[in-house]
Amino acid sequence: MNPGRQDDHLPAVAVGRFAPSPTGLLHLGSLLAALASYCDTRSRQGLWQLRIDDIDGPRSMPGSADAIQKTLEALGFEWDGPVLWQGRRLDRYREALQYLIDRDLVFACNCSRKSLPRGEIYPGRCRDHTVDTFPLEDHAIRVRLSGIVAFNDAVQGPQTFDLSQDVGDSIVWRRDGLVSYALACAVDDADKVTHVVRGADLLAGTGAQLGIIKALDLTPPEYAHVPVAMDANGDKLSKHSQACPVDESDPLEILQRAWQLLGQQPLPETGSLADFWQRAIPAWQMNRVPRTRQMSV
Ligand code: GLU
Repeated sequence: MNPGRQDDHLPAVAVGRFAPSPTGLLHLGSLLAALASYCDTRSRQGLWQLRIDDIDGPRSMPGSADAIQKTLEALGFEWDGPVLWQGRRLDRYREALQYLIDRDLVFACNCSRKSLPRGEIYPGRCRDHTVDTFPLEDHAIRVRLSGIVAFNDAVQGPQTFDLSQDVGDSIVWRRDGLVSYALACAVDDADKVTHVVRGADLLAGTGAQLGIIKALDLTPPEYAHVPVAMDANGDKLSKHSQACPVDESDPLEILQRAWQLLGQQPLPETGSLADFWQRAIPAWQMNRVPRTRQMSV
């Protein structure tokens, strides 16, 4: 058994997930990721989970986690098991951090953001500051990352990260006492998920997540990064920028639109939501998704 792993076996079936942060309402951009992940998982007869990435309290928008769930339901998405909340997994993240501390893979860093070169990777200044106790006051905790991680993204093709040069020592525990998003996401995906399908804006963070998964001796999932939806001004649709939320009044229309944007072959006339899903899942082809990082919608 791998001591870094909470579940000591890999799931026998494929497991996919949609992992919105509750920072706003569901918009077309996040719908593309949800639809691609759902069809990919269901076409493998896999389990699909809904995870709410609610660890960054200050960025959360009250009520948005509920609203996202309601919109997904209105569109006919069905997830397996209860909704997973990152905020309820803090013990698991602490356990993962302890695993890194015990192996001396982390260090305490009190560099202020201002003191670090802007736009460059962390220069390794505090690398020899051992972590003996936890929590630490006024220090972030970084994991030492080096070596190469490579994977074949099912949409974007082969990807390689040189962890020292492209990523740097990633923060696993924040100075304000919160788990870092990179650690939480790495642990959750490695513990529970076999196929991560998400927006290509998250591709850059995948190097750090894979570095963390490797440091924890966990098994990485497979990845597919679908293009990010851009508006007419060339800005990414995001909950943050208050992109127009998905209109639930005509679920079929918005699903058909997302389906088409994902490059899928047109479906025969679908009269009901049930019809749509019944036809869409077997027709899903990941290799038809445009191999670009962005697309205008
Ligand atoms: N929670 C992230 C977001 O809403 C997505 C994380 C992921 O899919 O890995 O942007």
